[in-house]
Amino acid sequence: MADTAELKLPNWRNEELSYNEILEKYPSVSPFVILKADILRRGFTLTEKAKEHFDDSIYINAINNSEKDFGAVITSESKAPVGLLLRDGTAIGCSTNQNEGIRDPYVIDYVDDKFVITDQGEQIEDVDFWRKPDYYGKLTSKGNPMETVLTARPRRLDVFSANKYCNFWGRGEGCKFCSLGPAARFYRNNPEAALADPDEIEEAVVEALKQKGRFTTICTTAGSITTGDKLFDDEVKMYSEIYTRIRRHFKGDELRFQYVASAFDKEQLIRLKEATGNIAFTTNLEVPTAELFEWICPGKAKDVGYEGWKQRLYDAVEVLGKGNVNTQIVAGADLVQPNGFKTENESVEAILKLTEELAQHDVGVVANVWGVVSTIIFKNFYPPSLEYYTKVFSGVNDIQQKYGILTYFDDYKRCGTHPSSDLLRD
Ligand code: SF4
Repeated sequence: MADTAELKLPNWRNEELSYNEILEKYPSVSPFVILKADILRRGFTLTEKAKEHFDDSIYINAINNSEKDFGAVITSESKAPVGLLLRDGTAIGCSTNQNEGIRDPYVIDYVDDKFVITDQGEQIEDVDFWRKPDYYGKLTSKGNPMETVLTARPRRLDVFSANKYCNFWGRGEGCKFCSLGPAARFYRNNPEAALADPDEIEEAVVEALKQKGRFTTICTTAGSITTGDKLFDDEVKMYSEIYTRIRRHFKGDELRFQYVASAFDKEQLIRLKEATGNIAFTTNLEVPTAELFEWICPGKAKDVGYEGWKQRLYDAVEVLGKGNVNTQIVAGADLVQPNGFKTENESVEAILKLTEELAQHDVGVVANVWGVVSTIIFKNFYPPSLEYYTKVFSGVNDIQQKYGILTYFDDYKRCGTHPSSDLLRD
């Protein structure tokens, strides 16, 4: 059974500007990025013909992908691509269950020997899927398929199951848009079992790097670990253990490390940098005001606080340098009622105000499309309009450009999650 949201919006086509109308109204914004935002917002399905030609010996299929442990890809579909590629190289990390059924999804068809994205019968764009790397299907020494510990995007390796438990969820204070809740309940009495085996990750990375020229970055994210001598120390230890092993297999910076992690303090970041080399660091404020942070991210607000989280971002720039630190905003989650913004414009203004404030401290911002699934607390709400996302993504990018904050580790070639940083081109 697909992991879907429960809400439907039957009249959305009459109430919102369409993809073509947005292209006309915002001619300076890349049509690929606008299409990506709309696919992330509406999801996609495959026609029977497209399914026939979707060859899962060539492309990455959701059922081969361990991200289901992190709540991202759960589907009963046998043909369920985890990612799309547009003609300009824009990667779209999006499964067929993303925001499923809230609005009509795009339909991917197979026409004239190629895959095409269609909407109401109109062909919008050519499309391809993420290709399966050579290491998929090989086994670790413990007998597990390597893709269960290390997943692949077009140019990036992901360790997304380093820790499938989050202490904030364990305390009943998880973020209200986060889908990790079921995993947290499963591991609550045995959090150690939620930790990945560093040996298996090392083996998979070594195997993945044999495919020369494919991967430029490795990104790790995990549930927050608040324990240790001081807050988050055990989480720092976990990353150090994994990445000192990986680091010894290559000499320079040919593989960039990105940690999407809790708000480590200066001393912890220095320790992590010394252990694992030059790194990129992302720690997420998630929402644009302190009041919303307290409501939507109660665990993070209690342990660090909104201003404290910002200060740790500023400190991170001191340790790691400009262009190596950013934070994510889950655009749209701040519109959830009763405490969210009452209008889309208020949300846009707040996100851009925060982006400007952080940019003055050399901290980058990436914004994504909020994905609604039935396992989150905010499951009865929905992502806002395409015009809202166009304003957020282009506005955030304009501010990054103005301040010269070029976080290429999160751009269209490496990441695929944030349309705002896809507008950053090198
Ligand atoms: S910190 Fe928040 S978003 Fe991150 S895993 Fe925990 S509950 Fe989810």
